[in-house]
Amino acid sequence: PPTPLTLLGTGAMGTALARVWLAAGHEVTVWNRTAARAEPLAAEGAAVAASAADAVAANRLVIVCLLDDVSVGEALDGADLAGRDLVNLTTGTPAEGRARAAWAEARGARFLDAGIMAVPPMIGAPASGGYVFYSGSPELFEEHRDTLGVPAGTRFVGADPGFAALHDVALLSAMSGMFAGITHAFALIRPEDIAPKDFAPLLADWLTAMAPAVHQSADRLQSGDYTRDVVSHLAMQVAGNTTLLRTAEEQRVSPELLTPYAELMERRLAQGHGDEDGTGMVELLDLRGR
Ligand code: NDP
Repeated sequence: PPTPLTLLGTGAMGTALARVWLAAGHEVTVWNRTAARAEPLAAEGAAVAASAADAVAANRLVIVCLLDDVSVGEALDGADLAGRDLVNLTTGTPAEGRARAAWAEARGARFLDAGIMAVPPMIGAPASGGYVFYSGSPELFEEHRDTLGVPAGTRFVGADPGFAALHDVALLSAMSGMFAGITHAFALIRPEDIAPKDFAPLLADWLTAMAPAVHQSADRLQSGDYTRDVVSHLAMQVAGNTTLLRTAEEQRVSPELLTPYAELMERRLAQGHGDEDGTGMVELLDLRGR
């Protein structure tokens, strides 16, 4: 029979998760700080616990999906975690994941940290490609992987409980840069000059065409050779940046999203790396030993 489970947190994400587990036949006990937000799930078959401690006592598998790590600490304060399998789907930093793992283990629980690479509509929709990174106890993951796989795909990325957050936040950070570029591009075209709806497919296709460059960067980082077979070398790119910046000025668009990256390229070039592609800039960002 499907594993019964407890879910703390019925916000947008927790509610989506609970619905999918309920639909798959799992007994689900939920708790939410604001009780009214858990009520719709009662109508769908969830048991609503009066306190987080009661919810934790109800099942061995305890899944937490709260706002942030502080809320996890507050919600679980006073709950008896001994013998529990705690899975933390709350977004946090790698250090928070590691500290929460040590905290849970000291209370007698096995622990998995996680990073959800999906928005709520992608939960329970396998075709959407949404998935969740997990790290921490390999035994917990193996034992519950079928249950964890019900709402979205699963990717175990290591016994270091910080690694799920590290993968998650690395992807989100890249997305942040991508959206910065998209924001600048839409500001540049001016909706009255070029219709955003005409421009959008060109932009999406261009970003998709450029995305495979990450594989070349990975090859270069692993070989340490940043110069072999470079087709767009840094000296050329830095020259091109002036065109980007002058066009922003012509269009009366703030360059503030472009300049930090342009300045980093100039620093790398000034160090004599004009024959590289952009990969060497990874080294410039490393603050260790500084
Ligand atoms: P919501 O804002 O919808 O829900 C937040 C939840 O946290 C609510 O259940 C809220 O309870 C609870 N909460 C906040 N503070 C506390 C506290 N101090 N003590 C107890 N409970 C608290 O957020 P989401 O459901 O969207 O997000 C939940 C997690 O999922 C986050 O870590 C988020 O980063 C992650 N996530 C969300 C995605 C999304 O697109 N929504 C995508 C990927 C990850 P109350 O109802 O009482 O306020």
